[in-house]
Amino acid sequence: MSKQLPLDDAQDFSDARRGFIATRTPLVITREDGSVVWSDKDYAWQNDKSAPDSVNPSLWRQAQLNNIHGLFRVKEGIYQVRGFDLANMTLIEGSNGWIVVDPLTAVETAEAALKLANDTLGKRPVTAVLYTHSHIDHFAGAAAVVSQADADSGAVPVVAPAHFTREAVSENVIAGAVMTRRASYMYGMTLPRTATGHVDTGLGKQPGQGTTSLIKPNTVVNRTGQTLTIDGVEFVFQYTPESEAPAEFMFFLPQYAAFCGAEVLSRNFHNIYTLRGAKVRDALKWAGYIDEALVRFGSQTEIVFNSHHWPVFGNDAVRDYIKKQRDIYRYTHDQTLRLASQGLTPNEIAASITLPESLRNNFATRGYYGTLKHNAKAVYQHYFGWYDGNPVNLDPLPPEAEANRYVEAMGGIDAVVEKARNAYTSGDFQWAAQLAHHAVFADASHQDARIMLAQAYEQLGYQAESGPWRDVYLSGANELRNGLQGVDMRESAGALLRSVPLDLFFVAMATNVDPESAAGKVVTVNFRFTDTGDDFTLMLENSVLNHRQGLAAEADATLTLTQELLVRLISGQASLKDLVGKDGVSVEGSFIRLGQLLGSLGLPNFDPFPMTTP
Ligand SMILES: [Zn+2]
Repeated sequence: MSKQLPLDDAQDFSDARRGFIATRTPLVITREDGSVVWSDKDYAWQNDKSAPDSVNPSLWRQAQLNNIHGLFRVKEGIYQVRGFDLANMTLIEGSNGWIVVDPLTAVETAEAALKLANDTLGKRPVTAVLYTHSHIDHFAGAAAVVSQADADSGAVPVVAPAHFTREAVSENVIAGAVMTRRASYMYGMTLPRTATGHVDTGLGKQPGQGTTSLIKPNTVVNRTGQTLTIDGVEFVFQYTPESEAPAEFMFFLPQYAAFCGAEVLSRNFHNIYTLRGAKVRDALKWAGYIDEALVRFGSQTEIVFNSHHWPVFGNDAVRDYIKKQRDIYRYTHDQTLRLASQGLTPNEIAASITLPESLRNNFATRGYYGTLKHNAKAVYQHYFGWYDGNPVNLDPLPPEAEANRYVEAMGGIDAVVEKARNAYTSGDFQWAAQLAHHAVFADASHQDARIMLAQAYEQLGYQAESGPWRDVYLSGANELRNGLQGVDMRESAGALLRSVPLDLFFVAMATNVDPESAAGKVVTVNFRFTDTGDDFTLMLENSVLNHRQGLAAEADATLTLTQELLVRLISGQASLKDLVGKDGVSVEGSFIRLGQLLGSLGLPNFDPFPMTTP
């Protein structure tokens, strides 16, 4: 890897340090209770050292770049705080105060970033907030820079792409438990920060582990070419829904000749498919938006700054950068379809697709976050879904049943582990992993099999150029050696459910129906919400919980409550008995029938489920 790439090219390091004004050293940000939200001490050991044997040297370079933190002058009037969280906070000087773009993942990191700007550049009020897109690392720290009251009254414009709030809460609600569990692998959340642990996500160090908030926007961007003057600064928006995020925009600042690429543009090959699990993204649309940006703003743009990583300076560099960002998505799209049309299936496409030299040797299109292999599979998935057309893959045996049979066919578990060890010794780590995986799924208590699989995953992790690939392999290895590693998601899940629109809440609630408890029950219940003013009807029939807006004329019962109390009820924190008669909670009609409906719901699963073991 170090021979293939010009790793000593210093341009990125000089761009990443350009305009440095100040930082905090050490940079340790804590919650009120003293627990650490963000600390550069986790990563300081990476600075000024060459890559250890256990880290891919290309990822190591990116990790060092992402270590550079502080307040930077992008251009007179535009500043960024970088390396205080996974994403960047951008501050634009308005006539009366700061226009804050993307207030980070946590209230604590956003507060620290704003304080650094105020302490260094002079204290100014926040006069506007922009969310470039609906991912949590770009909005959840908002309470540190604006209050919901100022957003509600319109005193501070809070600008977001159309459908922002719905998308911000929905992605993690309906499928939240699985995504959270898988995200803990993808971001290496339970790994040590060491040369054999987590080193970087590619996109930045890690998400801040602090208090999250959701301040709802009051100003919507829903079309390209839409112009807003915000605190005296003209913004020309490009609306880019269903690109990197379901709700997203980029913008051009004519007076600064500067373009904000949000997260549509970044300094790596981003995810067409994200390993935590999410709906696959549209690579063709993504490339199309980037080309549209080039056409509309390319010739006038002197600086590109984004929601992650460091800016691009100078028009020649900007146009070259934007073209290559466009073409990494376009190439992956086109070549996946070309190979598919020749009959190649996803694993074959991943094994044979390669990049042209101009994209391969360009750091900003390297697979530090997404990878060519998994993104090519994502393009396949977008067009063809999970089935590759081969009948053997239509209804394959589930992993344990398959593993038992393979292990028997290969002469028993000890023989399989031995073959895996031979593969490992010869450097064939993926084959070693596949063999040992069968052994572990045949008998998870077989210690030699577990250790063999862990060792194979470790080598695959050390080789990986992608931060998420590394973290996924090393998290798997860690659990094989030490058992399941929990990340507590109760608090975050509860916070999300309290702010989710009720129609989505009921969709999430319906995914908790236990078909056996619900069997044969036919119940209709009206729900009246005293806080939101919403009325809903829930109907249980065929072990399905349907919901409709409005009240049914003939319901078995009517439950009056608040969304907060419904969250407590559904998550098992309170029973109906505890609640009725308090805080305005009441039941009319049949208590028994209401109990039948609620009793058909299982509790949401917040506990870590096994992924590397059966
Ligand atoms: Zn982001």
